[in-house]
Amino acid sequence: MAEPQAIYLSDYRPPAYHVDKTELTFDLDPQATRVRARLHVTRHPESEAQAALTLHGHGLTTERIAIDGQALLESEYRIEADQLIIDQVPETFVLDTEVIIDPTSNTALEGLYVSGPMFCTQCEPEGFRRITWYPDRPDVMAVFTTTVIGDRQRQPVLLSNGNPIERGELPDGRHFVTWEDPHPKPAYLFALVAGSLECVRDSFTTMSGREVALELWVEAQNLEKTDWAMASLKRAMKWDEEAYGREYDLDLFMIVAVDDFNMGAMENKGLNIFNSAAVLANPQTTTDATFQRIEGIVAHEYFHNWSGNRVTCRDWFQLALKEGFTVFRDQSFSSSINSAPVKRIEDAALMRTLQFAEDAGPTAHPVRPDHFIEISNFYTLTIYEKGAEIVRMLSHLLGEETFRRGSDLYFERFDGQAVRVEDFVETMAEVSGEDLTQFMRWYAQAGTPQLTARSDYDAEKRRFTLTIAQQTPPTPGQEHKQPQHVPVRMGLMAADGQPVELIINGESHGTDTVLHLREAEQQWVFENVDAGAVPSLLRGFSAPVRLEYPWSRDELSHLMRFDEDGFNRWDATQRLALIAIEEMMAAHQRNELMALDARLIEAFRYLLREPTDDRAVLAEMLRLPSEAWIAEQQRRVDIDAIHGARRAAIEQLADNLFPEFESVYHANQQSEAYAPTPEQMASRSLKNVALSYLVANGEVEALNMARAQYEADDNMTDVRAALTLLAHSDRADLGDPAIRAFGERWAHDSLVMDQWFATQVTRPQADALERVRFLMDHPAFSIKNPNRVRALIGAFTQQNRVNFHRLDGEGYRLLADVVIELNRLNPEIAARMIVPLTRYHRLDEKRQALMRGELERIRAENLSRNVFEVVEKALA
Ligand SMILES: [Zn+2]
Repeated sequence: MAEPQAIYLSDYRPPAYHVDKTELTFDLDPQATRVRARLHVTRHPESEAQAALTLHGHGLTTERIAIDGQALLESEYRIEADQLIIDQVPETFVLDTEVIIDPTSNTALEGLYVSGPMFCTQCEPEGFRRITWYPDRPDVMAVFTTTVIGDRQRQPVLLSNGNPIERGELPDGRHFVTWEDPHPKPAYLFALVAGSLECVRDSFTTMSGREVALELWVEAQNLEKTDWAMASLKRAMKWDEEAYGREYDLDLFMIVAVDDFNMGAMENKGLNIFNSAAVLANPQTTTDATFQRIEGIVAHEYFHNWSGNRVTCRDWFQLALKEGFTVFRDQSFSSSINSAPVKRIEDAALMRTLQFAEDAGPTAHPVRPDHFIEISNFYTLTIYEKGAEIVRMLSHLLGEETFRRGSDLYFERFDGQAVRVEDFVETMAEVSGEDLTQFMRWYAQAGTPQLTARSDYDAEKRRFTLTIAQQTPPTPGQEHKQPQHVPVRMGLMAADGQPVELIINGESHGTDTVLHLREAEQQWVFENVDAGAVPSLLRGFSAPVRLEYPWSRDELSHLMRFDEDGFNRWDATQRLALIAIEEMMAAHQRNELMALDARLIEAFRYLLREPTDDRAVLAEMLRLPSEAWIAEQQRRVDIDAIHGARRAAIEQLADNLFPEFESVYHANQQSEAYAPTPEQMASRSLKNVALSYLVANGEVEALNMARAQYEADDNMTDVRAALTLLAHSDRADLGDPAIRAFGERWAHDSLVMDQWFATQVTRPQADALERVRFLMDHPAFSIKNPNRVRALIGAFTQQNRVNFHRLDGEGYRLLADVVIELNRLNPEIAARMIVPLTRYHRLDEKRQALMRGELERIRAENLSRNVFEVVEKALA
């Protein structure tokens, strides 16, 4: 078998033929669905007169091919390497094809497949070619008409994009519905759903007074879990009108919940298909974090109607064009509803741990890659999250108003077109008059820029000089990097805790300003500054960079107390804790007693005794840095020292501050009924952080508090928090009965069972890996369902570092076995699951050898393009 080959952005050519109109007919059958496609094709005026017609197709049984009603002879076309090539075609013609596909055996969950009792589709990025012969590329946009024929009993509901225009009965108990989508779209936005589904209906009046019908389709048992998504959808529709002037453009907007789904959700025109985990919620089954996640995803997919659907990507190298902008939009939406600093903390924490790790690892790639083997592998944190950070920097550089004018012009100018990242950035340059040439490097250069800052104080002249240098490390294929344009938002905090007026060259910049770092090194002189000022740098995480500055512990404590920026107060606390934990790691390595720095204890005492107004931020400040983030700060990663030191730090904070945590726990109890409001969520978050410290202290009294909270059974946020503490304690007599009871109670609800799986396999105890193996045989687990795989295998390999990295290599072996099986069933998920195995470069030699050994074992298999690409990069 030939090795899969890379595709290059520089090889892009416009399509030789356009499809103006696509008419599809699906005759549904679980094993043999017949798909008839009629494409109205026109040669592109600039392509050669004799250009061949090339269509994509995968796994299709072709029954008929005809041009203008004339069936083609076998000598008139070729089928090779997933392509149908017809050498001789007229200038304008109608192409008819008829194929048979097998949705039941489609375990890759791309194209048309069966999930439980329903048929559904996933076509982004290249799933449509598994449905019919088609120019499956985003720059071919057509108007679609789709007729779906199904069994009246088994598929009473037949959905596709757009508006229903006709329906009727057919012989043999079959019926049909015809849908018409008047907006030209690429094939990746096609969708079809058929099955026995129930509908929840609502409506929305747009800003121009049009009435839009809203429909949420679920299986009957999930009707109780639809309110939140519907309410979130209406909030998102309103927000997009207010913040971006974007109105919905069809009479009907539908969401469908599907159990087997590779991604979170998909923005198909008028028919968004959601992973049920990203849409279904109620207080008994869903935690606060998931309520917020659902709100964000519903908004994200809805926002794509403009940033993605009306204006789409020219080719898949431009994926960040739609994803970066849309993630930025959903982040802004979420922070307008919930605590804005906490939203920023969560997004930045994701960047600083997982995206930075990706950017420093073997699969590092630019936000706009220039080549790939399998595009499905590029639905990454770099494309989504770093892509969003770039748009955020742009919006700050331009200012909110100019950015809005830019986005208005972008939507107006490119409506109905498939465009590039340049088109977006150049529009922003045009409206603002800014030169964004250097800024474009953010899209081209992989790797996280490293900022090294230092300061100098001249007491006589009362001058504070800040020097910042930048350097981006080499990444695969990119040895040398150029300086980026980095916006550094900052302030100075005086010794008395007051903000310092920032005067540069005699000009005042208030107490908060943005420095534009463009060179390899730059200097700024602040005048009229008293001694003892502490710089607060990179406020609000104003750029996706690493920042080093030699803050002393006293300076960090000072920022923790007084910084005007909530994000930087949190960041100062994380850095203070990191210093203390790193000292304990060194003690762990020397086999010495690990004593926690008293200054960290005092800092926490201050936080607990004098809580700020924003309890949501306080809860984040009280959480110690994650093991993943601590590891990111190390040149050599010592898995056991990180785990041991962090654990000891938690215990010592608990021992020293038990009464303080106890009073915070009691002060944040609620008497009113559960609601996913920001105020209530802040209280629960703070209360449950406090409880985690109390339990870490090991007192029976604290464990009883956790048990009481579990048994009170008020809402899933509190139940899950308490269950996790019991299941992760050494007290099997408390943990085991709770786990058993929870599993029995929720056996019927797969989304709750996912939480049950994840809770057990993230145990720090040494038996976690054996639990994973045991639970893989549980009736609620299925390796074919991506949610189950993420809950059981993903949670273990990504959140239980100390057990995944066991020195006997059993964690690596387990993951490799799973990847080998998934490679055959669902390559897209296989390529995602394998990632922890590729992050070996900074571990000790023994673990490196074990991990490489498992990667070699995987490489010996007959690999999908997806897994092949990741393994090759990891072993390079
Ligand atoms: Zn998206």
